[in-house]
Amino acid sequence: MVEIGLDQVVKNVSLSFTLARKDIESLRLRVSELTGALNQMAEAQKSMAARLASYENSGKSKPSIILAPRISARRPVFFLGAASTMKVHEPSCPFAKNVLKSNKVVFRSKSQAFRKGYRPCQCLL
Ligand SMILES: [Zn+2]
Repeated sequence: MVEIGLDQVVKNVSLSFTLARKDIESLRLRVSELTGALNQMAEAQKSMAARLASYENSGKSKPSIILAPRISARRPVFFLGAASTMKVHEPSCPFAKNVLKSNKVVFRSKSQAFRKGYRPCQCLL
């Protein structure tokens, strides 16, 4: 049996925790990206249903294909502003999680937030 000192055990455990935390953070980010994509898909579905309905109401013949808008889950599709601090965050940022519901402002892009006078949090730098 190999003897492992207590110091080494402590180091190993703390490394494991660090790695696990990183995994959790990246999973959280992925979940928020996918949630954003789901929201986009719901929006796309609504707009396609509206277009279909408009064809039905107009009496024109329906097109055989209605193209869906492109949806990407690669980047966060929204940014979260905190009206109290005038900072804007990635949705997965720990600071963003602490923003009170009444202070939350959703932006579609960083530049939209900047135009409204918001400044980027560390998570966006
Ligand atoms: Zn942040």
